[in-house]
Amino acid sequence: MFELATVKLSLPEDPRYLDMSYAEQGPLPEEMRNLDQLSEKDRKLALEFYQSLASDFRYNEYLRGCLNCGVCTSSCPAAKFYDFGPREMIQYMMRGEYDKIYEFTNEKVWACVQCYTCSMRCPFNNEIAGLIMLLREYAVKFGLESAKQILAPYRRILLTVLTTGNQVTPDMIQPETFADWGPQALEESKNMDVYRKAIPVDLMQRTDIGWHASLQTAVELMTIMIEAGVIESLKNIDKDLYDMIIDIYEERKQFLEEIKEKYQKGELNEEELPDSWLDL
Ligand code: SF4
Ligand code: SF4
Repeated sequence: MFELATVKLSLPEDPRYLDMSYAEQGPLPEEMRNLDQLSEKDRKLALEFYQSLASDFRYNEYLRGCLNCGVCTSSCPAAKFYDFGPREMIQYMMRGEYDKIYEFTNEKVWACVQCYTCSMRCPFNNEIAGLIMLLREYAVKFGLESAKQILAPYRRILLTVLTTGNQVTPDMIQPETFADWGPQALEESKNMDVYRKAIPVDLMQRTDIGWHASLQTAVELMTIMIEAGVIESLKNIDKDLYDMIIDIYEERKQFLEEIKEKYQKGELNEEELPDSWLDL
């Protein structure tokens, strides 16, 4: 008879320390990283981009380590259709290869569909989809060309979401709104009325509801988005849209204040309040 010895492993609390190879290896030497393919301006921008990203507390929180197992990429639906893989991104991040992270952000990061399969399956609990969101957020902040191109067809949706809090309604599925959807949008839009009537849901019969919000709600919503820096981040991507949203905000805010003032002075009673008190 013998007793099995109980083996006690003492593992560090921070899982990143389980993977020392990256810490030991560090980034690949610069001469092995095609850095000379980037212009002087892009190299500088790539470094600034990375430093900003890495100083975001979420970056440190989301990136935990990597076994290089490939589970994330093998379960990624986007990887099946595009030259894109979350493992590639994590590997660049683990090694701090700022040029590759910059290149990945410019060329590949938009292929992800944010399904979160990778995050759920990663044995290291990397918040991979969150890191992708972070790269996109910084791409917008830095006004990268890829972010401009990707967001351009969604101007109308951005305008609606940022000014009313509502998202796309079926009315918006028109070829001129979604030029990038090609002939499919044209076909769909031809029969939109029929499609909508075939769906027995009140909301679908009255899609105009999606365009309305109470004046007060809209002003509060826009104030939150301005204070949180969401609208400011649009400035580098689409200055015209930014200006338009700020104009709408100023106009509504002033209108709301005028109505409130008149109401408080007793110059308006509830019946006399204009429709715009409730509807934009
Ligand atoms: S699943 Fe996690 S550990 Fe495996 S390659 Fe992807 S990021 Fe690395
Ligand atoms: S969240 Fe993005 S990267 Fe992750 S599995 Fe889904 S599509 Fe792939």
